[in-house]
Amino acid sequence: MKEQSLLLIKPNAVRNKHIGHIVTILEENDFHFCALKIFRFDRQLGELFYAEHKGRAFFENLLSFMISDDTVAIIVEKDNAVQELREIIGDVDPEKRKPGTIRALYAEGITENAVHASDSITSAIREIGIIFDKQTN
Ligand code: ADP
Ligand code: MG
Repeated sequence: MKEQSLLLIKPNAVRNKHIGHIVTILEENDFHFCALKIFRFDRQLGELFYAEHKGRAFFENLLSFMISDDTVAIIVEKDNAVQELREIIGDVDPEKRKPGTIRALYAEGITENAVHASDSITSAIREIGIIFDKQTN
């Protein structure tokens, strides 16, 4: 069944000029692009987007990283998009990242891990709503 998911190219990957490489990986894996934009998180938007992690030890670090530079957001569509995109980005734990995944290629640590992908269909709907509907820029 065709699904949508949200991919974010995080500030470290934008700074390191990996937007093109990451978009190419998505194209090679037959993801259709429904919408794409570049914007910058502020604290308020970061707290809303990452609300499930509020109170965790890494939360402040995560927020300051996410507001440190621009982010690229892409709504992708494909059969089984949510699960496939999670497989392509690789694990949050550096030791569990499979070679060839986007995080294995472009992450610079646990927090500065180059990309985000929605973890469920419910999260995808929520995150697309936050990034594409409630934001004007
Ligand atoms: P994912 O991005 O794979 O869905 P999580 O939802 O668990 O992972 O975490 C959200 C983001 O918070 C991660 O992508 C990473 O940037 C950061 N993060 C997660 N866990 C840690 C941790 N233990 N230490 C530092 N940063 C973390
Ligand atoms: Mg997550």
